Amino acid sequence: MRLSILRLITALITGFGVQFAFGQANHAWGYDKEHGPAKWAGMDPAFSTCDTGRLQSPIDITGAVKEKLPEIEFNYHPAPLKVIDNGHSIQVNYTEGSFITVSGQTYPLIQFHFHRPSENMYNGKQYPMEVHLVHRRADGHLAVVGVWLAAGKPNPVLEAAWPNLPKEKGKEVTVPGVTIDASQLLPAQRTYYSFVGSLTTPPCSEGVHWFVMKEATSVSQAEIAQFSKLYPDDARPTQPLNNRPISESTQ
Ligand SMILES: [Zn+2]
Repeated sequence: MRLSILRLITALITGFGVQFAFGQANHAWGYDKEHGPAKWAGMDPAFSTCDTGRLQSPIDITGAVKEKLPEIEFNYHPAPLKVIDNGHSIQVNYTEGSFITVSGQTYPLIQFHFHRPSENMYNGKQYPMEVHLVHRRADGHLAVVGVWLAAGKPNPVLEAAWPNLPKEKGKEVTVPGVTIDASQLLPAQRTYYSFVGSLTTPPCSEGVHWFVMKEATSVSQAEIAQFSKLYPDDARPTQPLNNRPISESTQ
């Protein structure tokens, strides 16, 4: 009798705990020990790919094979600054009308956001930051352009965005009179590494086409420091390549 009551109480507590965890799951993930990348898959069944996926991002780019790859045509236009602190990073939502074209396929730019330190690495080298320019085709296919950010001269996009960050998390703010141009996040040289990967945040969905620019873009030490105050570490560790081919454009 006593034992069965104990079992009942245990079942109630456990069941309650699980429900609570599911209810919290989408907001609970983060980068600290308790809610960090190693725990993501266990937080929500929808996040299982974070553990079981074989084509996960980010990666340490090694063994890239030089190829004659198509040029990425960037058709980015200035847009009003719409910025959100989503609790995981600072994200700039982009007005319709900017896109990239690769091999005749057009991918509209929907947003860009920042990681510190860089998520993708090159032969073990990590940069102070990385920006991800996220493009989504009408059929849902995603292409992300990754740009490493290195300490140097200030960047016009960060110069415009950093003084206008929202005070409140989870709320997009349109900043009156401030325009940004995503093309100013791109390096002068447009050669890139190309591979297949995933979202680097839950639900870690695969089938994302990655283009990581070979040359880094400069941002100032002060701009890195300002982002670090908000997000000192929002980078998922690099994931196994699992024999994934990496191509490198040469022109
Ligand atoms: Zn990202």
